[in-house]
Amino acid sequence: MPDVHGVTGTPSFGSTIRADVAVIGGGAIGHGIAWEATRSGRSVVVIDDAPGSGASRAAAGMLAPVNELHYQEEDLLELMLEASVRWPGFAADLAAAAGSDPGYLTTPTLAVGADAADRQSLLDLRAVQLANGLAVEPLTIREARRREPLLSPGIACALDTPADHQVDPRLLVACLRRALAGDAGVAGSGVAGAADGFAVPDKASGLLWRDGAVAGVALEGGGTVLAGETVMANGLHAPELTGLPVDLHLPLRPVHGDILRLAVPVHLRPLVTSTVRGLVRGVPVYIVPRQDGTVVIGATQREDALGRGAVSSAGAVSAGGVYQLLRDAQVLVPAVAELELLECTARARPGTPDNAPLLGRVPLLEEPAGRQPAPGRPGAQGSRHVRGLIIATGFFRHGILLTPAAAAICRELMDGIEDPRWAPFNPGRFSAAPSHLVEAAATPPNTQETA
Ligand SMILES: Cc1cc2nc3c(=O)[nH]c(=O)nc-3n(C[C@H](O)[C@H](O)[C@H](O)COP(=O)(O)OP(=O)(O)OC[C@H]3O[C@@H](n4cnc5c(N)ncnc54)[C@H](O)[C@@H]3O)c2cc1C
Repeated sequence: MPDVHGVTGTPSFGSTIRADVAVIGGGAIGHGIAWEATRSGRSVVVIDDAPGSGASRAAAGMLAPVNELHYQEEDLLELMLEASVRWPGFAADLAAAAGSDPGYLTTPTLAVGADAADRQSLLDLRAVQLANGLAVEPLTIREARRREPLLSPGIACALDTPADHQVDPRLLVACLRRALAGDAGVAGSGVAGAADGFAVPDKASGLLWRDGAVAGVALEGGGTVLAGETVMANGLHAPELTGLPVDLHLPLRPVHGDILRLAVPVHLRPLVTSTVRGLVRGVPVYIVPRQDGTVVIGATQREDALGRGAVSSAGAVSAGGVYQLLRDAQVLVPAVAELELLECTARARPGTPDNAPLLGRVPLLEEPAGRQPAPGRPGAQGSRHVRGLIIATGFFRHGILLTPAAAAICRELMDGIEDPRWAPFNPGRFSAAPSHLVEAAATPPNTQETA
């Protein structure tokens, strides 16, 4: 696939690039982590032959900890709120570093129900939101329509959520790449052999090991990247890498989403000023207004394998999905019928069994009492984790929101700081026999360092 951001040049076969940090995967998450690592003074490369083309390309960019609250996901709520607090500073610093705007807007969100059952569902959710200290205020239909005159008079309820904001994920990734290129250009601190001082436009094939620690990345094109820290941020495709710690189970599944981009004719602008998140006969739909006079309408949630293979992050757009989105969006805002349809996109969200990310270092268990460490297990000595490896995937519906938090957490891990609040996202939590991970450190599987 072509590099959507126009980076050219691939490391030649057998060549070696050296950096402090190698990030596999150039979506919002990988770029966010890479930029944060750069800001901490580390040299960084982002390995991706098609950066920005995965789930991040489809995302609506809602930064919505309040409306994304689900029952019994309190740990995730804490992470979402942490990200939400970080967003204003992250966006401002990024805009300054990139010299362009990532489209971060503090527009509020209106939750709207189409009928009585939808209203009850939203009120039930509000009870949970209030119990978690979140602000959600009911509006009368008249108040809602004063704010958003094009809302249908037939809606059953509207709830104001001032804390749920938005960013444009495509601008976000473009800004992060500009900032990375800019940082790499400062005082020639870029990585030798990488395009723009940070980009490696190739696919990672596997992890490299040395002395029981991950020491970098083997590239499909035949080159290698040697790094003190390797971050796996390649979304759904993380489990496909060779050389993963033995028995590390990363249970990712594709949850496809269809999403539309439409232009609002000048006479209808602004179609809406808030993000409108609706429930229409129990099915969610949202309309996100952008500054450029377009809106994003999304998104379906399908676990089928329409089009490409079942484990592809890109995918074919579902006709039924597009129909449903346009139908339901018009129930809330009838003028949607008058918009120009610009784009239908489908991508797969990287889902996990508990809807929470796989984020952190891979744990090693202590040797059982009385058992001597086997010879040649340097990775286990003095470390509770596989050294040199951080996992950052499985962001499911929240990867854009969580980008600044994931970046900060990974930077802390690189600095040797482990915040217990994020222990529930441990990437080893689905691995049946974590002690076996020790073997991985002792016996580099599949891929050996070659340089
Ligand atoms: C329709 C839709 C709407 C969404 N809306 C929102 C929203 O409003 N708010 C929100 O917070 N989230 C939203 N999400 C979820 C969000 O898009 C994801 O959680 C987020 O984009 C995940 O980012 P990522 O960087 O982990 O993955 P991706 O963006 O998928 O990036 C992974 C990257 O890894 C690369 N890669 C894969 N294999 C390799 C390899 N072997 N070597 C090198 N590179 C590799 C790919 O090319 C890709 O660029 C939405 C998702 C969808 C599908």
